[in-house]
Amino acid sequence: MSNAAWETVIGLEIHAQMATKSKIFSGASIAFGAEPNSQACAVDLGLPGVLPVFNQAALVSAVKFGLATGAEIGRKSVFARKNYFYPDLPKGYQISQLDHPIVGRGMIDVVQEDGEIKQVGLTRAHLEEDAGKSLHENFVGQSGIDLNRAGTPLLEIVSEPDIRSAKEAVAYARQIHALVRYIDICDGNMQEGSFRVDANVSIRPRGSDTLGTRTEIKNLNSFRFLERAINIEVERQIDLLEDGGRVSQETRLYDPDADETRSMRSKEEANDYRYFPDPDLLPVHVDDAFIDSCREQMPELPKLRLARFTDELALGESEARQLINDRATADFFEATVAASKQPRHAANWVINELGARLQKADLGIEQSPVDAEQLGGVLQRLADDTISGKIAKQVLDALWAGEGKSADEIIEAKGLKQITDTGAIEAIVDEVLAASPEQVEEYLGGKDKVIGFFVGKIMQASKGKANPGQVNQLLKAKLKR
Ligand code: ADP
Ligand code: MG
Repeated sequence: MSNAAWETVIGLEIHAQMATKSKIFSGASIAFGAEPNSQACAVDLGLPGVLPVFNQAALVSAVKFGLATGAEIGRKSVFARKNYFYPDLPKGYQISQLDHPIVGRGMIDVVQEDGEIKQVGLTRAHLEEDAGKSLHENFVGQSGIDLNRAGTPLLEIVSEPDIRSAKEAVAYARQIHALVRYIDICDGNMQEGSFRVDANVSIRPRGSDTLGTRTEIKNLNSFRFLERAINIEVERQIDLLEDGGRVSQETRLYDPDADETRSMRSKEEANDYRYFPDPDLLPVHVDDAFIDSCREQMPELPKLRLARFTDELALGESEARQLINDRATADFFEATVAASKQPRHAANWVINELGARLQKADLGIEQSPVDAEQLGGVLQRLADDTISGKIAKQVLDALWAGEGKSADEIIEAKGLKQITDTGAIEAIVDEVLAASPEQVEEYLGGKDKVIGFFVGKIMQASKGKANPGQVNQLLKAKLKR
C-alpha cells in the first residue's frame, strides 16, 4: 500500500453542547442523567400548537465562540427547519441554521504535537437543537425513546477541508475542545456526549488540487477514536482506489470493538432535507452593543494570555502553551506567581512537580490538595536559598499529605533549613573526604566522576540540607589537582 502516493484531506464538524441551564427553544432542563422523558416538555415533544422561544444564553455562547476565534459574527442569523423522519425527532424536523449562521468565517492556529502551528479555516458555526435518543438495551424486540436530549442547544463548528492527517485532526479537535471549555460555553464532557466529532475524510493523488469523494464518520466521542477511525478509513479508501474501485459518498460509523468503519447510509444532500426558514422563529439580530456585552463577559483569551506569559513573565513558548491550555491551570499558575514572584519556578513546578502528583492521583488542578498560596511559599524559600530543590520537593510532599499549613511551618517543624553556614558545611566535607581516601586518590588521579560520589555522601550526611552550590565550591577548593 503506497501511502506516499496519496494525500489525506479532512474537514471536521464538531457538535459542542452549550452549557446553558435550559434548552434552546424551551424551558426544560438539559441536566445530564435524568429519568428518561422527565426533562421533555410539550415543545420538545413536538406537540401540536406549541411555539419555540429562543434561549438568549445559547446566543451569548455562540457569539463568544465567534469572538474567541476572531470569526465573523452573523449580524442577522436565521433558523431553518431541516426536515427528516426519525423516531427520536417527533416534530419531523430539526431546527438548525443553513444560509445565515450565527458565526461565519474564521481561522484557527492549531498547535501540533511537534509545536508547529497549522492554520485551519473555520467555515462557520451555527446553532441547532439536538435530537432525542433511541434506547435499545432493556427493550426486547422494541426500542425506547428518550426525549430529554431533544432541544439541547448545540453549536456545530465546521472546519474547511484544511486538515491533512489524523494527528492534525486530533490537534485541531483538542484545541477547539480546550477553547470552548476555556470560554466556559461547553463542559466538554465527551462521555456524556457534550462534545462529538464527525470526520469528513477523502484522499487524492498527491499533488492534485481537486478534492476526492469523501465519507463522513459520525459521532466520534473520544480523541483516540477520532484518530483511529480516520486512519482506518484512509487505509480503506486507498485499498479501494488502488483496486480500481471508487469511494462512494456516504455516512459511516466507527466500531471501536471491531476497529473498522461501516457504512450507515448513503450521504444525503442539503436539498434532500427541504430546508426552509422556520416560520415560528424570527431572524436573530445582533448589534454592536450586544457583541460588546458578550465580549465583556469573556475571560482574557488564550492567545493574549500566551503573549503575556511569554513577554511579561519571560516563559518559554512551549511552557506557556502547556499552562494556558486549560484555564484552571493558567489561573493556578498566575496565583502561584502572585504568591511567590517567581514565574519561572512557578511554571516549572505547576507543570512538572505538581502536575505529576496530580496526574498520579488522578486529580484535576481544581482538586489539588496544595493550593497556589502554599506552592508559592515553597518557591519563595527555594528562591531565597532557604531550601534546595530536593528539599523543596519534600516540602511539597508534606503539604500534599497535609502535614502542615505552609512551607515555612513544615521547614521549621522538620528542621529542613538548608545549611549555608560555610563552617558547618566544611566540617562535613572534611569528614567525608577523610573517610574516603581511595576515592580522593582516584579524583586526584584525574577521575572527575568521583565528585558525584562525594556530593552524594555529603548530602546524605547533611540529610540533604547542605547548600549544593557551596558543597561544590568547597570540594573543588579542597581537592585542587
Ligand atoms: P454537508 O453539509 O453535507 O455536511 P459541507 O460541504 O458543509 O457538507 O462539508 C461538511 C464538512 O466536510 C466540512 O468540514 C468540510 O470541510 C468537509 N469536506 C467537504 N468536502 C470534503 C472532502 N472532499 N474531503 C474531506 N472533507 C471534506
Ligand atoms: Mg454536515
